[in-house]
Amino acid sequence: MTQNTPAPTDRTRLRRMHERGQYDADSIHSILDATPICTVAYVIDGKPYATPTIQWREGNHVYWHGSSASRMLKASAGHEVCLNVTLTDGFVMARSAMHHSVNYRSAMLFGTAHKVEDPDEKAARLKAFVEGLFPGRWDMLRPPTTQEMKATTVLGMEIDEAAAKVRTGPPGDDEADYALPIWAGVLPIRSEFLPPDPDPRNLAGVKMPDHIRNFQFG
Ligand SMILES: Cc1cc2nc3c(=O)[nH]c(=O)nc-3n(C[C@H](O)[C@H](O)[C@H](O)COP(=O)(O)OP(=O)(O)OC[C@H]3O[C@@H](n4cnc5c(N)ncnc54)[C@H](O)[C@@H]3O)c2cc1C
Repeated sequence: MTQNTPAPTDRTRLRRMHERGQYDADSIHSILDATPICTVAYVIDGKPYATPTIQWREGNHVYWHGSSASRMLKASAGHEVCLNVTLTDGFVMARSAMHHSVNYRSAMLFGTAHKVEDPDEKAARLKAFVEGLFPGRWDMLRPPTTQEMKATTVLGMEIDEAAAKVRTGPPGDDEADYALPIWAGVLPIRSEFLPPDPDPRNLAGVKMPDHIRNFQFG
């Protein structure tokens, strides 16, 4: 997928509520960048699994990682997966049960996951993951050991087959129902970070870094 070149495939073309579909890289990237939480779907022995995990984006690639023993990672490497990121923005309260809905931004990506084998590239990807969330943190940490790096698998996937589906705005009720004395509207949803909770085992005098104090996401 190239910037500003919407390119739905037969698999990504929205049938239901197709007007909510967006296929351009900016739309997909902005949803991936708005939360690290994703779900990866894959198949083991013909059975589907959908595992929540954390993703990060670098250019037109999405990455995720975990224990080298993870079944999710072992079953995904070299195989087709579907990765989804969803943000919920509000409950949509309509005048009939049928028209209740959710305001959301959702991206669904298809592709073949590849294992990042090269040790230097793997370290660079993991550093980008940490630095993307917490600028300056990687270099203040104890460096990963060889054993820790071996125990970690990083998977990547090119973002070349993806769709975003986005709902915004008030409910869409049946015209006749607007005459009913029923409250309707949107109950907005916001995730927020609360004040940091220091580890009781922090050493005396160790200051909270700016990337924690000033943390912002998205
Ligand atoms: C928070 C939330 C709540 C929802 N609640 C409901 C609900 O209660 N009932 C319900 O039926 N649907 C709900 N949806 C919408 C749901 O995700 C599907 O879009 C819808 O069910 C249509 O599915 P389908 O298989 O017929 O889609 P199709 O239109 O046939 O899908 C074709 C292709 O469009 C793309 N696509 C479809 N849905 C999405 C999506 N959500 N995000 C990104 N790409 C997509 C995919 O590439 C898919 O392969 C909800 C979505 C979200 C994010």
